[in-house]
Amino acid sequence: MVKLSVPGIPKSLSPLPSSPPIPIPQAVERVSAFLSPGNAVVLTGAGVSVDSGIRAYRGHDGRYLNPNYKPIFYQELVDPTPTGHLFRQRYWSRSYLGYPPVRDALPNPIHYSLAALQHTGHCRSLITQNVDGLHKKASPSEEVRRRILELHGTLFIVHCKHGHTWDRDSYQERLEALNPLWQPLAEKVGRELRRNPDGDVEVEGMDFASFNIPPCERCAADGVNETVIKPNVTFFGESIHEPLKDQSYRLVEEASRMLIVGTTMATYSAFRLIRHALGLDKPVLLLNVGPTRADSLPAVEKIELPAGDVIRNVAQALCATEAQTDPVLRTLLTSGVVRAAKTGDRGAG
Ligand SMILES: [Zn+2]
Repeated sequence: MVKLSVPGIPKSLSPLPSSPPIPIPQAVERVSAFLSPGNAVVLTGAGVSVDSGIRAYRGHDGRYLNPNYKPIFYQELVDPTPTGHLFRQRYWSRSYLGYPPVRDALPNPIHYSLAALQHTGHCRSLITQNVDGLHKKASPSEEVRRRILELHGTLFIVHCKHGHTWDRDSYQERLEALNPLWQPLAEKVGRELRRNPDGDVEVEGMDFASFNIPPCERCAADGVNETVIKPNVTFFGESIHEPLKDQSYRLVEEASRMLIVGTTMATYSAFRLIRHALGLDKPVLLLNVGPTRADSLPAVEKIELPAGDVIRNVAQALCATEAQTDPVLRTLLTSGVVRAAKTGDRGAG
């Protein structure tokens, strides 16, 4: 069993000199040539959502952008004791505040451009480490959505420890109804409070112990007050579910090449997919700014530029002919808003 560890770039990698920067037109040409044979698998991370206003974990030098960020571990979140309950109160209070901006975030040009490349078959499938749902939001069809694998799960589904599931919006309403005193704080989110890409918020001076966790209603019907409740997101210290892991390997095997966008590959679940591709002699191209865990793999070709400067032009170059007769494609190639994160940092996660 492989477990997620806290994202970390090995210290020794951080000071490595970056690849020499290349001009954007040259990068566009290179990535276009790489994708033109078709049937690529794309692997994305937090870096692709930064332009949607969702903060990346890490800046260009590999340090946490938010030095106070302490992830909650799986073992803490599902611990049935009163200590565990306190962790869940901390998690759900912060998640209650952090969820609306993630829910309301819109795909940016990177999401739409990758969706266009999936629509045309240049990129057959997409594996994302993001839990923000933005790739699916940008998808033009069920056919494209089916070929998106959310490796670390999704924020938009919640479950109790007995496997009862429901959608996050309905749970958000129950969180709000049970915690009226927290509602004024929700309005501050995005202005004063720091938000992390998993919808978690930094709150100071609030007593988590006052936060009410709505129990599972289906367990309640059986007379059980079940408050061990968790989003369908893989937490640090939690194993990736086997079917997801198997599927991610299969997508790599079915593809002829791998494009990696906006990730430092800090989680092992993503890093091992690159190694799998390399082991099968598939070419791997990485588009990211800053040090990454893949820097230790010389077979990986690296272009050190923000994806936002490159991918839209790549999609336009590769899809130009088809776009003349496909209005769906034309829309994808012109959609997406850029909403810079507060720090203005476009690092990867
Ligand atoms: Zn239940």
